[in-house]
Amino acid sequence: MYPAAFDYSVAESVDHAIDLLQRHEEGAKLLSGGQSLVPLMKLRLVQPTHVIDIGRLGGLSDVREDATAGVVRIGALATHAQVGASTVVREKLPLMTEAAGVIGDAQVRGWGTLGGALAEADPAGDWGPVMQALEGRVECTGPSGIRVVEAASFFVDAYTTVLADDEMITGLQVPVPSKGSAGAYLKMERRAGDFAVASVAVQLELDGAGNCTKAGVALGAAGLTPIKAVAAEEALRGQPVAQETVEAAAERVMEAANPLADVRGSSDYKRAVCGALFWKAVDMALRRHRGETVKGGHVR
Ligand SMILES: Cc1cc2nc3c(=O)[nH]c(=O)nc-3n(C[C@H](O)[C@H](O)[C@H](O)COP(=O)(O)OP(=O)(O)OC[C@H]3O[C@@H](n4cnc5c(N)ncnc54)[C@H](O)[C@@H]3O)c2cc1C
Repeated sequence: MYPAAFDYSVAESVDHAIDLLQRHEEGAKLLSGGQSLVPLMKLRLVQPTHVIDIGRLGGLSDVREDATAGVVRIGALATHAQVGASTVVREKLPLMTEAAGVIGDAQVRGWGTLGGALAEADPAGDWGPVMQALEGRVECTGPSGIRVVEAASFFVDAYTTVLADDEMITGLQVPVPSKGSAGAYLKMERRAGDFAVASVAVQLELDGAGNCTKAGVALGAAGLTPIKAVAAEEALRGQPVAQETVEAAAERVMEAANPLADVRGSSDYKRAVCGALFWKAVDMALRRHRGETVKGGHVR
């Protein structure tokens, strides 16, 4: 199907994009990689009157470590493939490398951007839970400058974020976990390239005695938004990562999950998948902490 008619502008700068957003208000849509917007327009589920192409803006796809701030900065236009191939990300944020590898197919990974994926706020998207487990932040730029929003409070509903009509995502800030840290991202999918049935991101900071000093736990496809499983994080924090601790935390994970039944499974099934993926992700994180090479990512 063809999209409904629309006007099209190429933004020449971030300021220009914001100016166009202000001028066209609710009828305008930004276009980055087009991997979500274009199919939705073709199905006429979204019918913008004005498409503002930001995909060619320079300087918004860099991925670099800012050691002074203790973060990796990722431009909004960095694609899933770029993040997956980044040496800085592999060394500092291997959880993100793992997530980048399980998104869609090669075309989606090559065109789709992190800014677009977060703005789209698909409840089954992969970056939301990963950003929340890593305590990442989203840079939202509007007419009065940049405001930085924690990933934990960025998503407000399915396909809805805190972004105002005249704001765009310009970058992400992801804190670099400490050296004694390990994590895993696990996504259950029914077939290759599909969105998640459920997914779990876990990042654990461990001391020399195997006690958890900090935990990041977040769930995807487990509700209308990504869910930061705060009670599970608290159940792990300050404890040795032993059977009883993980059992208690897994209970909290399943309590936090509130998945909708759909073609990918019933609500009870998805909740159980969240619990099982959490167990597996913690086990993988512990093994990685011990220096083992463990393959994560897809679970089918
Ligand atoms: C076949 C297929 C499989 C997929 N599988 C997965 C998957 O397994 N996991 C997953 O997470 N995703 C998946 N996706 C979605 C994919 O990750 C998209 O790339 C992503 O959702 C959107 O990024 P984009 O750059 O293409 O954004 P676009 O499609 O260009 O835009 C998406 C939305 O975000 C807005 N937007 C874009 N950029 C910005 C910005 N910088 N600031 C503010 N708003 C912005 C647009 O206006 C639009 O509303 C899949 C998509 C397809 C088509």
